[in-house]
Amino acid sequence: MVKVVDATHFLPDGELPPAGSPVRRHALAIARFVEYGGPLHRGDSCLTLVECSLRPGRRPCRGFLWVHKTLDDRIEASCPSCGELQYVISNWRGTLWSDGPMILPHAPDVERAH
Ligand SMILES: [Zn+2]
Repeated sequence: MVKVVDATHFLPDGELPPAGSPVRRHALAIARFVEYGGPLHRGDSCLTLVECSLRPGRRPCRGFLWVHKTLDDRIEASCPSCGELQYVISNWRGTLWSDGPMILPHAPDVERAH
C-alpha cells in the first residue's frame, strides 16, 4: 500500500519528532528518503541502503529501496525487487535533510576530539 505523505505532518518544523513519539519510526523513514532524494534532479533516481520491509508471499523481500524525484518535485520510494511503490512524499523542502546529508565543515576527527 502506498503511503502518500506530506512531510510537514511527520517532520514538524523540518525536524524529527522527539524520541518516544508514536510517529518517530515513520518520520525517520521519511527523513531518510528525503536525504537520498532531495539532492537529485527532477526525474532522477538513486539506490538507497534502506531495506524493503515488505513480505510478499509471506517471505521477507531482500530488496533495497530506490528513491525517485518526480518532475513535480515529490519523492517516491519503491522497491525494484518486489515492485511495490511504498511512499510518495510532498512538502519535503525545508526539512533538515532536503539538501542531502548534513555536512559539518572542518569538524575535528573524532579520535582527536577526546
Ligand atoms: Zn521489496
